[in-house]
Amino acid sequence: MTQPFSSEFARRSFMQAGALAGTAALAGCASAGGTMPGATAKTPFTVPQVTIPIVGSDEVFPVRRIYCIGRNYAAHAREMGSDPTREPPFFFQKPTDAIQFVPSGAVAAHPYPPLTKNYHYEAELVAALHKGGRDIPVSQALEHVYGYTLGLDMTRRDLQRAMGDEKKPWEIGKSFDRSAPIGALHKLAQTGHFTKGNIWLKVNGQTKQNADLNQMIWSVAEQISRLSQAFELFPGDIIYSGTPENVGPVVRGDVIEMHIDGLPNLSVRIV
Ligand code: MN
Repeated sequence: MTQPFSSEFARRSFMQAGALAGTAALAGCASAGGTMPGATAKTPFTVPQVTIPIVGSDEVFPVRRIYCIGRNYAAHAREMGSDPTREPPFFFQKPTDAIQFVPSGAVAAHPYPPLTKNYHYEAELVAALHKGGRDIPVSQALEHVYGYTLGLDMTRRDLQRAMGDEKKPWEIGKSFDRSAPIGALHKLAQTGHFTKGNIWLKVNGQTKQNADLNQMIWSVAEQISRLSQAFELFPGDIIYSGTPENVGPVVRGDVIEMHIDGLPNLSVRIV
């Protein structure tokens, strides 16, 4: 697929997604990325394209999929009960509309979700892709990165653990509404690649997580490469690159602030 990366891409993807339900299904077409060039179809309602503002630009970044890597810092892997020296990387997804955009300088209201009594933060670097592909070599993987931001992989830990204990999918613990607070995207030219630098998270001003990006088990390049073996990647895919140790709970009224060297901080208040 060779889509121009622009707001035109967002508009066409959105229009074509509607067409899929009818035309593509009837034609038995499994078009990659859900696109039908030239297709236009009326839809009974509209579904908004999820986007993230791009710093220093009047364009927005259209989000296609949210991938997340699990247990990517050794000390966090240990606190979650696994052995970081033996485990290959694994990934899960959040629904695209789990995005909650948080402008820098603001403290966004983040709703405490239903069903949980143990709601956890996970501070993470996020990489955003403007090129896709399959079986991308590690040596070429970073060419696919459009830019970076920071985000929270919010987690209903009790539900995640209960499902894990029963060998059921994690989905209800990870993939719920607004589970992906995220900052504005910085183009690569503004930040360079992130291979090291402080990442921290505070709750009500008290440091909870504090680590260095160089402690990732699998680098962003390795994550892109591995992901592309399992899924064909496309422009608009974003990757939450894992959280350091000392994840923990928040309750209503708590203020989370997170930081990565080179990016503006991200803050939410749990409401
Ligand atoms: Mn995570």
